[in-house]
Amino acid sequence: MPGFELFSDLERKEVSDVLDNGVLMRYGFDGMRKGHWKAKELEAELTKAFQIKHVQLVSSGTAAVSVALASAGVGAGDEVIMPTFTFVASFEAIMMLGAIPVLVDIDDTLTLDPQAVENAITSKTKAVMVVQMCGSMGDMDSLKAICDKHDLIFVEDACQAIGGKYKGKPLGSIADVGCFSFDFVKTITCGEGGAVVTNNSEYYKHADHYSDHGHDHSGNDRGAETHPFLGYNFRISELNAAVGLAQVRRLQEFIAIQKKNYTIIRNELAKLPNITFRRVPEGGEESYAFLNFYLPNLEDARKVSEAFKQNGIDACFHYFDNNWHYIRKWDHLKELKSLFPISKEVREGLKYLESKVFEQSDAYIARNISCLIKLSWSEKEVIERANKMGAIIKSVFA
Ligand SMILES: *Cc1c(COP(=O)(O)O)cnc(C)c1O
Repeated sequence: MPGFELFSDLERKEVSDVLDNGVLMRYGFDGMRKGHWKAKELEAELTKAFQIKHVQLVSSGTAAVSVALASAGVGAGDEVIMPTFTFVASFEAIMMLGAIPVLVDIDDTLTLDPQAVENAITSKTKAVMVVQMCGSMGDMDSLKAICDKHDLIFVEDACQAIGGKYKGKPLGSIADVGCFSFDFVKTITCGEGGAVVTNNSEYYKHADHYSDHGHDHSGNDRGAETHPFLGYNFRISELNAAVGLAQVRRLQEFIAIQKKNYTIIRNELAKLPNITFRRVPEGGEESYAFLNFYLPNLEDARKVSEAFKQNGIDACFHYFDNNWHYIRKWDHLKELKSLFPISKEVREGLKYLESKVFEQSDAYIARNISCLIKLSWSEKEVIERANKMGAIIKSVFA
């Protein structure tokens, strides 16, 4: 996945344009910039890549989720349904707005179980956020139908699934509003950066203003702009955007490499009797950023994960024992350890986490191993890796 593995003269050239004119700010300074508008150009490239009307770049994927929710009007006391398996950024971005994350079970797609979503809807529910974890996706048609039926905003976090598709549409472009991260380890990297994408012109206008102090960005005179509403600073810099601009032009090349490497390893593991793969919904195509497979039970998954580590198979994750991506070890959330006071409404809204057990999520995550697919491996390395992984798994079951 990490786009940084293949940095080239293309990235260097874009960055050097920015350093030459000295304008690191994405807005204004028209006279000094020698025609270089890296953030604007990257937004234009992303509208093509994601087949979407509007793209607003922001400073991170976490910022993208907050800005996306704020742009759709999600705020204090609103409940946002999200999966138990995701990066901690998902609940951070919700809580930043004074809203309440409502965690629900995942299914064998490794993201939202539509039935669990339906069961969690209350009069306070405002949005449902699917997180397209590890290069694949949820049952988008079912989730969309639930959102339509209950008049909820459908949000798609596609930070880990750049380049994946569902029924021909790029992941991130399917829900009412989508979010991407271009941080240091994502398929396309800006160093730090993210994007809010939508076909809704109103949400886009909100995201554009909100991510830059509420400035309306009308006319050329920054000082004369008005503030239709309050905002913050979630801007991306021209330097970060320049890196992403070179990277997005290589997206198809990156996806093809991921697919090739993924397929070699998958075909090898498919020969083993004890391995099954993560379900990809019908009509879905993964981004191939990760290969996800299931072992028969927790004990086997722990053994395989340990044996991978001992034998130099890096970048494979057993999320059940990891504290970044799964509810089981999010003690700081469960105990609501906040630096500053949190509203009574959010405290009460999160009380369920003190005692709730997510048996169904546990059943999938306990057995899952997720292996990062790198871009820089040679074909020889991938084949060796695939054979070694197969041999290790066989030895665990011997
Ligand atoms: C990386 C990631 C984020 C956060 O992105 P940052 O740019 O690191 O803030 C959010 N959600 C998911 C699923 C991610 O993988």
